[in-house]
Amino acid sequence: MAAEHQASGETDGIVSQLSPDELPSSIHDTRKLLPTISDEESHYHLPTNDINYQPNVHKNEPSGVVVCCRCGEGAMNSDEIAHSKDCDQKEYHSAYWWIHHKEQMLEWFQQHPRAARRWLSRR
Ligand SMILES: [Zn+2]
Repeated sequence: MAAEHQASGETDGIVSQLSPDELPSSIHDTRKLLPTISDEESHYHLPTNDINYQPNVHKNEPSGVVVCCRCGEGAMNSDEIAHSKDCDQKEYHSAYWWIHHKEQMLEWFQQHPRAARRWLSRR
């Protein structure tokens, strides 16, 4: 917590230059800058059905559930996984989710001034 606080003094200058309108809005830029589920270091498990249910659910077909390999929580949509509090994968979302959650994106940049600087320098 102390370290985060120390960094915020330096962060404010950078992030004050970022308005929600200026945040990355393409899938490409979002994947490059923010933690997304397509990152190689993110890990999810897609369990298959272990039994047949009639008429449409067949054994060994994907169940549709996405499970976080770090904390074991799952949901029908990776963006809706209720990760455990200390899960190091809880910041990972789809690029589509980030683009439609600009407040969270701005918050993330506030905590990652290096990424904010990178984004501002390439505009
Ligand atoms: Zn998790």
